[in-house]
Amino acid sequence: MANIIDGKKIAEDIKREVKEEARHLKESKGVIPGLAVILVGDDPASQSYVKSKGKACEEVGFYSITELMPVDISEQNLLAKIDEFNRDSKIHGILVQLPLPKHINEQKIIEAIDPRKDVDGFHPMSIGKLVIGIDTFKSCTPAGIQELLIRSGNDPSGKHVVIVGRSNIVGKPIANILLQKQRGANAVVTVAHTGVSDLTSYIKSADILIAAIGKPEFITGAMLKPGVVIIDVGINRVEDGSSPKGYRIVGDVHFESASKVAKAITPVPGGVGLMTVAMLLKNTLKAASSQQ
Ligand code: NAP
Repeated sequence: MANIIDGKKIAEDIKREVKEEARHLKESKGVIPGLAVILVGDDPASQSYVKSKGKACEEVGFYSITELMPVDISEQNLLAKIDEFNRDSKIHGILVQLPLPKHINEQKIIEAIDPRKDVDGFHPMSIGKLVIGIDTFKSCTPAGIQELLIRSGNDPSGKHVVIVGRSNIVGKPIANILLQKQRGANAVVTVAHTGVSDLTSYIKSADILIAAIGKPEFITGAMLKPGVVIIDVGINRVEDGSSPKGYRIVGDVHFESASKVAKAITPVPGGVGLMTVAMLLKNTLKAASSQQ
């Protein structure tokens, strides 16, 4: 049976480290890291993400502001709010919760954030630096995946990493992180997507498999190479009459069959999901330290 890569424990370890470093920053320079989170509209899932980000800031001693804006806010007013936070010296990191309503140009909003405060790592400046291997803000979910690999003793160096999915928020950035000639990276990376006719042959060749597809339990044990390390990014709701909520959350990998073949695997929930907020805190601390 596979070892479980415990995202909860690793995320807690990171939070503890961030809290300690934030205390040191406050004592040595009088600086308290500050994060502004902007949420447009009242989508319940986004509200819950934003709430957890605010709570996590509190836990590690950060200053945070959550700005709730109505769903019909104009693009101009949203840009004005970002400009206000760009100029606010108490705010070191700015995060705009995505997705945004259709009448707002998401890319324009991302590009309005001062790259020095781009703790979500989606600004083209951050992404460009990431691609050419310059230190920058790595977007939180991919950065969390890299930390999970390193801290669970599964260094990707020299390994064949197969990523299924090429989204701008997961697949593309994690591919670029892991192929850098750097510590905790230095992998041979393959990115698979719907353009391939024989997905299984790619998956079978993986030493490390990163599934970021968005399809419940899509990858099964039969598709895997024995001894593979699996990072399951998927968060999918499936109906479950036996659960009080009427649904349960599963990953993109069929956990039961995969864990019989793999060397190690992240559970869902309890894996990658918990790392995202931890890495946001880490990025905010980095922003606060580098703005001094
Ligand atoms: P996305 O934008 O929908 O992208 C999905 C990717 O999977 C696409 O590149 C798509 O290929 C590929 N794909 C879909 N079906 C496929 C198939 N049958 N064979 C091969 N490739 C296939 O999804 P995302 O935003 O990256 O999210 C992926 C999953 O991760 C979701 O379950 C999401 O909820 C979860 N997620 C979790 C976190 C977290 O834990 N914090 C953060 C972000 C996302 P094409 O490009 O060819 O269409």
